Amino acid sequence: MKRLLLCLNLIALLALFGCGDESTTTTTAAVTEATEQTTEVTTEVTSETEETTAATTEETTEATTEATTEEPKIKGVVVIDPGHQGHTDKTPEPIGPGAKKTIGIAGVGTCGVSTKTPEYELTLELSLKLRDELTARGYQVIMTRESNDVKVSCKTRAEIANDANADAFIRIHANGSENKKVKGCMTACISSKNPYQDEIHQDYEKSRLLSEKVLNSLVDSIHTKREGIFERDDLSGNNWAKVPTTLVEVGYMTNPEEDELMATDEYQKKIVDGLANGIDSYIEAVE
Ligand SMILES: [Zn+2]
Repeated sequence: MKRLLLCLNLIALLALFGCGDESTTTTTAAVTEATEQTTEVTTEVTSETEETTAATTEETTEATTEATTEEPKIKGVVVIDPGHQGHTDKTPEPIGPGAKKTIGIAGVGTCGVSTKTPEYELTLELSLKLRDELTARGYQVIMTRESNDVKVSCKTRAEIANDANADAFIRIHANGSENKKVKGCMTACISSKNPYQDEIHQDYEKSRLLSEKVLNSLVDSIHTKREGIFERDDLSGNNWAKVPTTLVEVGYMTNPEEDELMATDEYQKKIVDGLANGIDSYIEAVE
């Protein structure tokens, strides 16, 4: 059926863009046939609708049965965004809807001063562990990337979260500073006056609460300096998001002590537990 319709469309197109005097006549014929096709399409759509209704009824019955047999309820949808990637691409992309300011679509981030580990590797490692932890806690988790060999722009990352209608969009980063002594962790969310939210409508209050809960739990777990919650409107991935969003800087890769700690399984587990506790705490607060 679809193939037939395609063929007919093709004939119609050929007729429209064809040359010579014949085209007009052929077009009329194609249009007549196309009209007939439309009737058929309508009939099919109607029957498909009926099928959908039937399927929905069946699914509902099944779901009810499953619920009574203790099917675990999903706690929420979390989109995890491992910061950066293994490639640099300076192709400009606006930092928010309607923004004049741009940022390159891909960058590698900072680098471990002692371990020499690039930030994009650390963020992916942590994010995959966080994915497993959140899945075990009953969340549906979607990753913006699962490989370092990709180029996913900040806008695309936010759109993944938007499409998933995420309850929380968590962006994992590690910080860098020219001063090697600087250490600690922070979160960042949009400000209440974010200039790009006219058409986006991210809930500032929720993003702020998410940033607060995640930071508090993280500090409780890793006992590093609490640098605070930063309200920023220059973070592209935050600006493009329609869902509650926080960007977490879990520690400084330019601080030798934190860099080495962040490379260990033990400390990574503490980071992951802290982040997951923060998400739990946020989800409980907004339920
Ligand atoms: Zn980063």
